[in-house]
Amino acid sequence: MATPTIAAPVVVSRTRTAGAKPAATASPAVPRARAAKKPASRGAATSKSHNGGSTTSLLALHEGIIYGPIRSRRLGRSLGINLTPAHLKLCSFNCSYCQYGWSDQSRRASAPALENWPAPAAVGKAVAAALKSIAAQGDRIDRLTLAGHGEPTMHPKFREVVAAIRKVRDDLVPGVPIAVLSNASTLDRDDVRAALADLDERYMKLDAGDTATLRSVNGTTLPVERIVEGLKKLRGVVIQSMFVKDRTGRIDNTGDLTIINWVTALEKIKPSAVQVYTIDRAPAFPYLQQVTPVRLKEIAQRVRVAGLTCHVFGVPETAAEAGIAPPVRPA
Ligand code: SF4
Repeated sequence: MATPTIAAPVVVSRTRTAGAKPAATASPAVPRARAAKKPASRGAATSKSHNGGSTTSLLALHEGIIYGPIRSRRLGRSLGINLTPAHLKLCSFNCSYCQYGWSDQSRRASAPALENWPAPAAVGKAVAAALKSIAAQGDRIDRLTLAGHGEPTMHPKFREVVAAIRKVRDDLVPGVPIAVLSNASTLDRDDVRAALADLDERYMKLDAGDTATLRSVNGTTLPVERIVEGLKKLRGVVIQSMFVKDRTGRIDNTGDLTIINWVTALEKIKPSAVQVYTIDRAPAFPYLQQVTPVRLKEIAQRVRVAGLTCHVFGVPETAAEAGIAPPVRPA
């Protein structure tokens, strides 16, 4: 396998947070890492809401492989699969809006050893146990979703993990799609692209079309051109884009020029659909603000003018706004 050339992994660890959901299956042991020392100005275990009102908590890191099922505004009722080690946020990005908080030990921490990632067989076993439990309760899910508290494609055996999940899905819930939520940072790896092609749905992040904005919003030094080149090689990709701003304008991917660059990138990628939304949970950066529904609709309209399908999440749209033709009445 080619040596990964992704950005330096971003790692943060937390001890168990009160109220965290119990895991269906235990993950391999992870060395007890030192608690992350947060910069005074950036993130904490709690985060003030963007409206400056009540204080809400960041999400607890997962304790194992399985979480949920949860109801997602984009994916329906979804069984979550966390591929990063328990209690350890591991991501190549450090997004200002991350609901799991900052990843600010990244540049000092080394990647966890192979034995600390959940093995493909352990992932398959955990998914099978969860699906049997759900069926025994007479419940159902709409999707199996690889996501969790980090970037799932950073798993060193991602392709084997995908194969294990597919086998369990085919055996127990054939027809239920397997989706992935990814930040698209690893697409220069052939093995990752091959694994993604084996999945049914690929929801890939792209919050900006220029490197400077990407850096301020997502905390990555990856050039946007590299991400776009990787996305162009995937078929049937859905682009998910989070729009945010802060009071100072230091973080803002909603400006007109920024949107022009982003739409230009989308035109190169040719996704099957684009999903735009804004924060609805406590973000890592406590002074991040929601984007207004009006601006989200304007952004979506720019995408539609470029000939691409675009959905706005969290904001009701009329059929006309969404570009949906009214039903034809029979004569
Ligand atoms: S890519 Fe996802 S997990 Fe990683 S920092 Fe951004 S929001 Fe958090």
